[in-house]
Amino acid sequence: MSEFVITPPATPSVAVAGSNARFPVRRVFCVGRNYAAHAREMGKDPDREPPFFFMKPADAVVAAEGVIPYPPATNELHHEVEMVVALGGGGAGVAVEDALALVWGYGVGVDLTRRDMQAVAKEMSRPWDLAKGFDASAPCSALRPVGEIGHPADARISLEVNGVVKQSGTLKEMIWSVAEVISHLSRFVTLAPGDLIFSGTPAGVGSLQPGDRVRGVVDGVAEFDFEVGAAAQEA
Ligand code: MN
Repeated sequence: MSEFVITPPATPSVAVAGSNARFPVRRVFCVGRNYAAHAREMGKDPDREPPFFFMKPADAVVAAEGVIPYPPATNELHHEVEMVVALGGGGAGVAVEDALALVWGYGVGVDLTRRDMQAVAKEMSRPWDLAKGFDASAPCSALRPVGEIGHPADARISLEVNGVVKQSGTLKEMIWSVAEVISHLSRFVTLAPGDLIFSGTPAGVGSLQPGDRVRGVVDGVAEFDFEVGAAAQEA
C-alpha cells in the first residue's frame, strides 16, 4: 500500500443541524447574477444572460459563526447572501425534472467577494478566482436535509449588517430555479455527492467592515450569525 508523502488534507465539511454528523464538501460551485435586481445593480441586463458559474475551493467553506477573518489584499469586501444547495447525488446531463432528486439538503451562506479585485479582473479580462475563492470566502450555516424541510421555493432570503437589513428578497426571484441551475451546471461538469452550489444573491450587496455583525437567513431553512474579524496586515 502506498503512502502519501505529506499528511493528506482534511476533508472540508459543513455541520448538519440537530446532528453530530457532518456533510463532506467535494466542490463549491457558485451561480452568477441569478436574481434580476442584483444583475441590474451590477450593470447587467438580467433578461439576456444564461446562468454562468464560478468556483471556490472546497476549504473556503467554513462555519458561518464566531469570527470570519477579513481577507488580505482588499479594501472592499462584499457580502452576497445565498441559499446553499448540498448535493447527495450526482450525474451529467441531468434533466430539469430529475434535478431536485440529487439534492440532499439546504443551507444559507455568504459568497464573500473582494469586489475591488473583481472589478480589476473584469476590466482586464482576467479570471475572478482570487476575488472569489480566498480563505474562508464561503461561510455556510448548518444544513437541513430535504427530508425535514422539502425544497424551499418561495422563502424570504435576507442579510443584515449590525441589525440593518441590507439584502432582502425571495427565492421566487431567482432567474434560474435550483432545478434549472443543477441541470445547466451538469452540462459542464459531472456533478457528484458532496458538491455545494451557492445559488446566487438578491440585490443589496455591499461592503463589510472589521467588527461588523452579519446575520443571514432563508426563512424556514437556515440562518447564521458571525462577526467580521480585524483587517489582515498587508505584507
Ligand atoms: Mn454570488
